[in-house]
Amino acid sequence: MHEMGIATEISRIVLDEAERGGGGRVNSISLTIGRWSGVEIETLRFAMEVVAEETGLDGVELKIEVVEPTFKCSDCGREFIAESRLTPCPSCGSMAGDMVAGDELAIKEIEVEE
Ligand SMILES: [Zn+2]
Repeated sequence: MHEMGIATEISRIVLDEAERGGGGRVNSISLTIGRWSGVEIETLRFAMEVVAEETGLDGVELKIEVVEPTFKCSDCGREFIAESRLTPCPSCGSMAGDMVAGDELAIKEIEVEE
């Protein structure tokens, strides 16, 4: 379960940020997670709860925004959501596309009590 390692890393970054912002209590954490990031969202939620309790982040609200796999067609430039890497461009049918979103794992926002 590599989600436990990810949760530990997230809480470390969050606590660092909170510290730098004056050391207030963290109210919520917003994460952006790509559908294809390889992270099990339910598992990560559970891992975050466990880690939060150990690190003093207990009670923190975890907001997760799931990003669908998005490709940009190299031929016509259209961006589209793909079911798989073999999904052709809906405009021109080209199979040549670059993934532009959907495999990220990022902390979007941290809300700290003033
Ligand atoms: Zn296209």
